[in-house]
Amino acid sequence: MAKSHPGARPSRNEVHPRYEVRHSPVHGYGAFATRDIKKGERIDEYLGDRISHEAADKRYEDYDESDNHTFLFIVDKHTVIDAGVGGNDARFINHQCDPNCESTIEEGRVYIDAIRPIARGEELGYDYQIGREKDDPPNVDEIYACRCGSPQCRGTMLWPPKRPAARKRTKRTKKVAPKATRRTRSSRKK
Ligand SMILES: [Zn+2]
Repeated sequence: MAKSHPGARPSRNEVHPRYEVRHSPVHGYGAFATRDIKKGERIDEYLGDRISHEAADKRYEDYDESDNHTFLFIVDKHTVIDAGVGGNDARFINHQCDPNCESTIEEGRVYIDAIRPIARGEELGYDYQIGREKDDPPNVDEIYACRCGSPQCRGTMLWPPKRPAARKRTKRTKKVAPKATRRTRSSRKK
């Protein structure tokens, strides 16, 4: 019954200076460094259709709740980027619990930046920081299960039930949550 998600496969002709998309042992497709990357380097911009939260809800209202496949990224309370429509390969950068990248929001645009040196061949990832919502299904952690393999893996792409307050106040929180509605942020497989 699941509709197939728009944008679920990488494009054939996108070329990136720093990464390539191929099958990942972690989760469907992934992005892998094609050269050594320095801490602080910008990997890519997260592109896609810029729509309201309401429009995003509407667009995916027919999808099953157990489907974690959309490519929604929350920019702010008004805007969500849906990389399933007109998105670039940045949507294939997987979630990692102990990530080598982070998402940064600057003037309404979303970027993925390296937060430590990354060796050629390493898979890129950032913390999706998917928020929890009151109407999440009971198995929401399963739906968003993480198998990134890090010793720090928290087992889910969702934030822990209680977000550490300190984190909220730092500038880092600009990086907001890659998620809008319950079915947020990517994942990819399929
Ligand atoms: Zn993990």
